[in-house]
Amino acid sequence: MSQRIYLSSPHMGSLERGFVDDAFTSNWIAPLGPHVDAFQTEFAHCVGAPHALALSSGTAALHLALQLLGVSPGDEVLVSTLTFSATVNPIRYLGASPVFIDSERTSWNMDPALLSEELEARARRGRLPRAVVVVHLYGQSADLDPILAACDRYGVPLVEDAAEALGSTYKGRVPGTLGRAGIYSFNGNKIITTSSGGMLVSPDEGLVRHALKLSTQARDPAPHYEHSEIGYNYRLSNVLAAIGRGQLRVLEDRVAARRRNYEFYARALAGVPGLTFMPEAPWGRHTRWLTTLTIDPARFGADREAVRVALERENIEARPVWKPMHLQPVFAAFERRGGGVAEELFQNGLCLPSGSNLTPDDLARVVEVMKAVPHRSRR
Ligand SMILES: *Cc1c(COP(=O)(O)O)cnc(C)c1O
Repeated sequence: MSQRIYLSSPHMGSLERGFVDDAFTSNWIAPLGPHVDAFQTEFAHCVGAPHALALSSGTAALHLALQLLGVSPGDEVLVSTLTFSATVNPIRYLGASPVFIDSERTSWNMDPALLSEELEARARRGRLPRAVVVVHLYGQSADLDPILAACDRYGVPLVEDAAEALGSTYKGRVPGTLGRAGIYSFNGNKIITTSSGGMLVSPDEGLVRHALKLSTQARDPAPHYEHSEIGYNYRLSNVLAAIGRGQLRVLEDRVAARRRNYEFYARALAGVPGLTFMPEAPWGRHTRWLTTLTIDPARFGADREAVRVALERENIEARPVWKPMHLQPVFAAFERRGGGVAEELFQNGLCLPSGSNLTPDDLARVVEVMKAVPHRSRR
C-alpha cells in the first residue's frame, strides 16, 4: 500500500525546535511564560491587531469573545451555517440560540444580503441578536464591508471566526481584525499549528484584558485566591507558544505552498467536465488552506462520494465540504434564513489533500485517481 496522503498535516519549519528547547532549558513548561507573551506580540504585529491573547483553542477564544460581548441565555446570535460545529457550540455554551445564515456563491461565505434582511426583519420585531458570527471558510474572507455595514446599521457587534483564514486578505485588510473580536486556530490541521491552540484579537483593550482574566480562572488582584466571577482554564502553554513563534515565521511560505497545490490541481484537472473549484473572490487573497471543489455528477460521471471513496481506497484522505449546521441533528430546532446554497455545496463539495508539505508526486497521485473515477463508474 502506498503511503497515506493526508488532508492537511502539521508542517514544522526550522525554528520551532529551538524555541521549544529554550522553553525546556528555562523550565518554563507552564501555561504562561515568555514565549506566550512573545507569540501574542508577534501575532498581533503579523495581523495588525492592537491586542491579542493566546488561548488553548480557537473554540475557547470564541467562547470568551461571545461571553464578553454579553451573549447570555435567551439571546440570539446570527451565524454562518456552512462551517465547522466549533463556530456554533460556544453560542450554546452560553445558553443562546444560533440563527443560521446561508452562503453566497462567490466566496461560499455568509451572504451579506441575507444577513441584512434578517437583521432588518428582527429590528422590525424589536428583537435584534446579541452578536453576529461570520466565518471565513477554507482560507478565504467573507465579503466583510457589507457585513460590517449591516452590523453597524443595527449596532450589533461582529465576531470573526478566522480559524481557517490566517494569511488571507480582504481589500488589503486582514480578516479577523475588522470586527469587535476575531479568533484564529492553531489546531493540527490549520495553516500553521501549535498542535492545539488559538488566538483572540480585538481593538478593545478592555475586552482582551477581561478575557485574560477569565482564561486564568478569573483571579481578582489579591495576594490570596479571590474570585468574583466564574473563570476558565483556557490559557496556552508556553511550550506550545514556542512552536507557534516558529510557525508564524513561515506563514507566508505556507500560504504560497498551499496556493501552489491549488494551482497544480486546477491546471491538471482543467479539461475534466463537471469539476468547479471554489472561486477566489475579487476582494482578496485566498490562502487555499484547503483546495475545495464541487462535482456535478451528471457532467463528471460520478458523484462526490464516489470520488471520496475512490481516493480513500488509494489511501488518500479527502473530506466532504462542511455539512451545514442547520442540517445537524443537534442544531435542527433553530431558525435559519435560506440554506439551499450551503446544502448544495455540501452535497457536491469535496476538500482535496492540501498540506503545505505535499510533494509533486502526492499531488499527481490524487489527480490520477480522480481522473480515473468516471471511467471506473461507467464500467
Ligand atoms: C478549527 C476551527 C475552529 C476551532 O478551532 P480549535 O482551535 O480547533 O478549537 C473554529 N471554527 C472553524 C471554522 C474551524 O475550522
